[in-house]
Amino acid sequence: MDYEVIIAGGSVSGLLCAREIARLGHSVLVLEEDYEIGTPEHCGGVVSVSGIEELGVIPTRGTLENKISSASIISPSGKSFTLNAKAQKVLVLDRRDFDKQIAHQAKNNGAEIWVRTSLKEINGDEVKTSVGSLKCNVIVDARGVSSLIGKDREGILQSAQYEVYADWIDKDRIEVYFDQEKYPGFFAWIIPTCTDIAKVGVAGKGINAAITLENFLSQKGKHSIVRKIFAPIWIKGPIENFVTKNIVTIGDAAGQSKPTTAGGIYSCGLGGIFAGRAISKYLGSGNQSDLLGYQKSWSEKFGHEFQNMLLARKLFERFDNRSIDKMFESVTPEILEEISKEGTFDFHTVSLAKLLGVKGSVKTVQAILGSEFRRLLT
Ligand SMILES: Cc1cc2nc3c(=O)[nH]c(=O)nc-3n(C[C@H](O)[C@H](O)[C@H](O)COP(=O)(O)OP(=O)(O)OC[C@H]3O[C@@H](n4cnc5c(N)ncnc54)[C@H](O)[C@@H]3O)c2cc1C
Repeated sequence: MDYEVIIAGGSVSGLLCAREIARLGHSVLVLEEDYEIGTPEHCGGVVSVSGIEELGVIPTRGTLENKISSASIISPSGKSFTLNAKAQKVLVLDRRDFDKQIAHQAKNNGAEIWVRTSLKEINGDEVKTSVGSLKCNVIVDARGVSSLIGKDREGILQSAQYEVYADWIDKDRIEVYFDQEKYPGFFAWIIPTCTDIAKVGVAGKGINAAITLENFLSQKGKHSIVRKIFAPIWIKGPIENFVTKNIVTIGDAAGQSKPTTAGGIYSCGLGGIFAGRAISKYLGSGNQSDLLGYQKSWSEKFGHEFQNMLLARKLFERFDNRSIDKMFESVTPEILEEISKEGTFDFHTVSLAKLLGVKGSVKTVQAILGSEFRRLLT
């Protein structure tokens, strides 16, 4: 064997997986098809401090772009409410530096990383790459949403995210805009990275993301676009089997990003860590059950929350602009205070349920959704 493990995809999940495997004493190679780790950055970079602490990465000055103190949510007709995000400790990361920081950790543990090298085909224990064939015991698919495109197009939304310079950007505040006609099944967002600079994006079912984002920006006001990225996002939750024979699927490739917001740094990153530990155990024991333990660990941590997120998404997709506006009318200062104080960024369906269940809107929501709504509250 050339390596005990070969990982295709050198982003957050693949690199964290490599870091763990190398730390536990096994040989591991990461293949990244792009010419540089972290580039092109296809991420808003919003995470909680507790989330990245759990991933074992302390952001450096280069990695940390901004700290967020609040989030404003805006309805189709322009009604809005603002959540105080101070207690939730939310950061904006520069994914280019963040991914390189993890690559450094992985390398320090003994992992090898090859950029501009792509996985082409898997044949048993043989991996065909753009630079030749290699043999290994375990292959990890960490190729992101591109791995899911062939499997299921239904769960994929097109997104566009531009880096924008504009004086209407509030440095401390994320903005989220709902409009089921413009961004069906998703939303538009403004993620400030510093004064007058933000990552501004849109996603939605069946939309032309570039045109939609340009319309959004022209309504916001004068601006300059200095970078454009287009990337698919996955909203259908985890795939059925994370492990098939000697192939282990992690991160976005395994559907491990949130079905509500498509955020995945934390849940995909932990997917990589859990997989790395399970693979190392399997390499020592030869027991397939050790490999399968990875899916068990991830599901114990995220299974219930992701089920609730999928349900919340199902409910949201049935709302039209009128019902969203109605819900906004019923949000009280007390409920906002409660969510700001007690809500958690990474496990947010309890906060969503509180918003859906507030006095007044509960009747509307229950009438539309019946018993499914009650399940979200349990
Ligand atoms: C517009 C946008 C905004 C987002 N904003 C946020 C956010 O604010 N917060 C958050 O938590 N999450 C966010 N996400 C989600 C987050 O970026 C992903 O969940 C996370 O990056 C998934 O990590 P991953 O390692 O699984 O896959 P990816 O980051 O997608 O990485 C896959 C890697 O595999 C490589 N690759 C693909 N094919 C091959 C091949 N054949 N051979 C070798 N390498 C290959 C790719 O080049 C890439 O580097 C956002 C996503 C998008 C699209």
